[in-house]
Formats: sequence, C-alpha cells, structure tokens
Amino acid sequence: MNERKVAIIGAGFGGMTAAWDLARAGCQVTVYESADYAGGIASGFKEPHWDWSVEKFYHHWFASDDHMLRLLDELGVRDKVLFPRPYTVMYYNGKFYPFDSILHAVLYPGLGFGINKVRFGMVGLYLRMTNNWRPLEKYTVDAWMRKWAGRKVYEEMWEPMVIGKFGERYAKQVSMAWMWARLKARTTRLGTYEGGFQAFADLFAERLRGMGVDIRLNTPVTGFKPLAAGGWEVTSAGQMETFDQVLSTTSPGLLAKMAPDLPATYLDGLLSLKSMGAMVMVVSLKQQLSREGYYWFNLPKSTGFPFLALVEHTNFVSPQHFGGEHIIYMGDYLETEHEHFQMSQEQLLAKFLPSLQRINPAFSPEWVNNAWLFRTAYAQPVPLVNHSRNIPDVRTPLPGLYFASMSQVYPWDRGTNYAVEIARRAAGMMLADQSDRHG
Ligand SMILES: Cc1cc2nc3c(=O)[nH]c(=O)nc-3n(C[C@H](O)[C@H](O)[C@H](O)COP(=O)(O)OP(=O)(O)OC[C@H]3O[C@@H](n4cnc5c(N)ncnc54)[C@H](O)[C@@H]3O)c2cc1C
Repeated sequence: MNERKVAIIGAGFGGMTAAWDLARAGCQVTVYESADYAGGIASGFKEPHWDWSVEKFYHHWFASDDHMLRLLDELGVRDKVLFPRPYTVMYYNGKFYPFDSILHAVLYPGLGFGINKVRFGMVGLYLRMTNNWRPLEKYTVDAWMRKWAGRKVYEEMWEPMVIGKFGERYAKQVSMAWMWARLKARTTRLGTYEGGFQAFADLFAERLRGMGVDIRLNTPVTGFKPLAAGGWEVTSAGQMETFDQVLSTTSPGLLAKMAPDLPATYLDGLLSLKSMGAMVMVVSLKQQLSREGYYWFNLPKSTGFPFLALVEHTNFVSPQHFGGEHIIYMGDYLETEHEHFQMSQEQLLAKFLPSLQRINPAFSPEWVNNAWLFRTAYAQPVPLVNHSRNIPDVRTPLPGLYFASMSQVYPWDRGTNYAVEIARRAAGMMLADQSDRHG
C-alpha cells in the first residue's frame, strides 16, 4: 500500500478529481478548501423551497466533454446527466435569431445570403475539421479572421464575442488557437446534472470522504514551503502540517503568493499570465422572460446592453425545480477595475433591469422575486499569441509541488471538463514521481 501523504489546495472539480485518482492509488489525501462548500467556481446555491441548486455562474456541459463524462461514469452517476436542447440566439437589427446549428447559421440574416455567408461557412468548416491548432496560435483572432473570413464576417460575427470575453484591452491580442478550440469542442446539445452542479459537487465530496479523503472546508491555506529533508509544510490558520507532495488548483497569482520559494523564472511566468474576472447577477422572476423560450442570448457590447449574456436558466431546466420561479442570469467578463466590480447589487440591478424590456416588452420590475450577485476575479484566462510557450508546467521546478489551473488547459477554453483532464494529468505525474523516488 502506497501511504504517501498528499495535500491538495482547492475542492473545485480539479482538486476533487485529483483526490479521486490519488486516493484510489492508496495515497493519504487531505483537501484544503477556503470556502464552506465544495465545487469552486462551478458551485451553486439553493433556496429552501427549491429542489435543485442554481449555479452561481451559469454552467453546462457539452456532449463532447469526454473527460467529465468518463468521470461521471466512474462515479456511477452518468445517468444523472441530462442533455436538453436549449436555444442560443444572436442579436441582429433589434431582433433575436436562433444561432446554434448549421441550419440556423444558414437562415441567420446578419450576413446576407451572398459571399459573406459562404466565407463564414467555409472558415467555420475548416476550423471544425482541422486538428492542427499549433500553426494558428501565432496569429491573433483579429488578424486571422480578417484575412480568411473577411472584415464583414469578422466584425459582424466574431469580434463582438472576442470583445465581450476579453474586453477592448485584450480583444486584438487573443490567439487564434483559442478560437479554434472554442469552435472545435462545442456542441448544440448542452448537459446538466440532475439537482444542479452543486448536487454533483456534494456527491463527489461525500464519495471522497467515504474513501478516507480528509476534505477540510473553511480552511484557507496561507502558504507552503519545501522542507530541507524533502516534502512540504502546509500552513493553514497558523497550523502546520507536513506532506510528501502538494497540488495547488488555485489561480496562478495565488500560487505565487503561497509558494514564494519557487524559482524566479517560474514565479515570473505565473505573474505574467493574464485573466479576466466575471460578474453574474442571478434573478428569480415570477414569469418567463423569453416568450420564445430562448436559453442563451449573446449580446454584443455595441447593442448597448449593460451585460454580455442573458441566460434564462429555466428555459434549459424546468422552473418546477425552483418552486415555479423563473431564473435568469445577467453576466459579463470584466477586468476587476471595472465599475461593475465595485457597484452594489442594488445599483447594478437598477442599471440592468430596464434592458430586460428589450427581451420582453411586458417585463416589469415587479416580476422580480429575488436577486443574488456573484463576482470572481479569476474567471477567464487570456491566451495571447504563442501562449503554449508561456504555460507554467504542471510539475513545478520544486520537487513535490504541482500546479493545475484553468490557465494551463490551453488551447482549450477553461471548463470543468478540462479541470478534470489537467487534474488527472497532475495526479498521474505525482504517482509517477512517487514510484521514481520510492519504487
Ligand atoms: C462565468 C463562468 C462560466 C463558466 N461556464 C462553464 C460552463 O458552462 N461549463 C463548464 O464546464 N465550465 C464553465 N466554467 C469554468 C469552470 O467553472 C472552471 O473551469 C472549473 O470550475 C475550474 O475548476 P478548478 O477546480 O480548476 O478551479 P476552481 O473551481 O476555481 O477551484 C479552486 C478552489 O480552490 C479554492 N481555494 C482558493 N484559494 C485557496 C486557499 N488559499 N486555500 C484553500 N482553498 C483555496 C477555491 O475556493 C476553489 O474552491 C465557467 C466559469 C465561469 C467563471
């Protein structure tokens, strides 16, 4: 029996997946989590009269999320994953048009029905077909799309999404490999977990506890340092404990703060990574907002909506799970200096609600039952050109310290599926290093 003592920082889907693999290999695993719940960014919340939880930041799976689906299989809960068929729409000339299938793209009026539609289709097809993303990463989305799809197609279809996700500051610098990955991996059918993502996180944590994993909620780690004799000392709430290996699943900035003994080049690499924050207002309504039953509204900044995406969650899963209430999200990716990161929930609600009349003219603020505001500083890594050269190694230069975060899953866009993949990769390296040294 392998009796290595391993610490994992973070009980998000990454941390829990690594714990699953390491515990099954016989390691003694401790998971430190600063929050009072498991699930990290994919966690949810629940009112007493709701059967299901609502994700704080809208979440769904794609039918192509193989790593996540395999994990659900291993946990024996694959049958709890539901794949409804919700509708994503695009804004054009004051109206919304479904835009999430080839047929819808053909019918969408925004590009006309001539050469631009053909260029849009050809470029989309090429990106879906090719697996060769490396040559793409040396171009920005802006330069590559302008050249191959053309100015009209890029400015109409893709630029609003890139500006929405990365802001004016980074929009012209993002690598084309990111866009390739986004188009490659997404599917029309979207998945969720019966009971909500939090139900899955709670089940996963319980399953781990049943295997002897010590998940310590409300236990923020303040630092860890290598010991002269090998191994690591992890500090939390003034208490120190030693481990053979440590895996951090936090943001790069936090890792740099917690492990200042890392060599300067690795630390500089961590600190030079860019990311965006996210802000999401969840609102419970007395009535359905989208009369057409649309789920996801893409709202280019140029349309004047004060947020990027409107998501009617209960056009994806039934309002019956929420006591008949209709749940919407109003979300945006922002730098943390943006005023929406400082404004109160009341101020933001006053700013956001009037725009709901553009979705449904009958909307009135009296429809609102309740609202919840969530913000997180580390939400969306920004992959610049040639980003593959800047990805910090999972195996850090300090023996026994590993790092697995959203910033390292490139070219893929961050997602729970890739949190699972990179965590499994990290756990594999930790086990391999144990056998190298002790085998
Ligand atoms: C707005 C938004 C929408 C998204 N939509 C989707 C989607 O539709 N589908 C999808 O699959 N993914 C989506 N994602 C991405 C997904 O949530 C993440 O990729 C995934 O949850 C990352 O998991 P993780 O375990 O790597 O990190 P996290 O979930 O961030 O987990 C890290 C954990 O570490 C803990 N921690 C931090 N510091 C400390 C410390 N000092 N001590 C102890 N613990 C600490 C944190 O509390 C957290 O629980 C979305 C993300 C955002 C922001």
